[in-house]
Amino acid sequence: MNSQTATLIDGKATSAKVREEVAVRVAALVAKGITPGLAVVLVGEDPASQVYVRNKDRAAHAVGIDAQTHKLAVDTSQEDLLALVAKLNADPAVHGILVQLPLPKGLDEAAVVRAIDPHKDVDGLHPLNVAALSMGEEGLVPCTPAGCIELCDRYDVELEGARAVVIGRSMLVGKPVAQLLLARNATVTMAHSRTRDLAGLCREADVIIAAVGREGLVRGDWVKPGAAVIDVGINRGEDGKLHGDVAFDEVAAVAGAVTPVPGGVGPMTIALLLSNTVTAASRLG
Ligand code: NAP
Repeated sequence: MNSQTATLIDGKATSAKVREEVAVRVAALVAKGITPGLAVVLVGEDPASQVYVRNKDRAAHAVGIDAQTHKLAVDTSQEDLLALVAKLNADPAVHGILVQLPLPKGLDEAAVVRAIDPHKDVDGLHPLNVAALSMGEEGLVPCTPAGCIELCDRYDVELEGARAVVIGRSMLVGKPVAQLLLARNATVTMAHSRTRDLAGLCREADVIIAAVGREGLVRGDWVKPGAAVIDVGINRGEDGKLHGDVAFDEVAAVAGAVTPVPGGVGPMTIALLLSNTVTAASRLG
């Protein structure tokens, strides 16, 4: 039986703290006559997307952001979706635009993301924001990766000079989180499905960020004693519950700090979306 020695990185409590700070920034903008506006576009009836969108809408309103959700039918054409994005781009009351992904089959996600004004791209997925991140220039950073770094910072996980292994190389999580770690002077290894001896690589890491989508992939004996382990994965287990990419009990017995699933990175994603919206509003005025 393993006993937990790791510090539990509480994403729920940290997210609440970040949202409080965002509310203060919103109030300061409102005092200057700017109410941050967030437009969320949902196409189709995917149940998970509906839940995410409802949560984003509620969380935005709770901090004083003027959020609006645009629900479009599953058979919406690319042309109509692009027309809505163009309208939101031109609307001065809208500072952040988020098109909930994935889009239904037949719609071109990349073209829709490209159509969003990069200054309003609060998901940080527009190619100009991707480029800004890799060039170290000002832009909007994807919310989940930014949430991972925020958790590290608030739990004093040293990134400067640390050996970091990022497992997963998606545009949504793996690549941007690796860029953010590099920007913080970590020495970053990006691992993926073709990586040889992933366990050996992880054993050398001071920080492991798992963004894979494989329940319990990262085992206790992959982790160096004292390392920080950030679990981005969300997997529905056979027990019907949500599980991360990390075998939590095993890892918590060796790691210095670990995020749970649920209650780790997940809640940070929304907090950082709100933060990005306020950042966009303060830049756009
Ligand atoms: P994705 O696009 O499917 O990418 C998964 C990555 O994992 C790929 O790069 C893949 O490698 C790699 N991979 C797959 N099997 C592997 C293995 N056995 N060993 C090592 N690497 C392996 O997924 P994603 O969008 O990045 O999301 C990853 C996870 O994070 C999912 O569980 C998702 O639900 C979750 N997520 C959570 C949040 C949040 O708010 N907490 C936000 C976004 C995503 P290849 O490139 O070689 O195929």
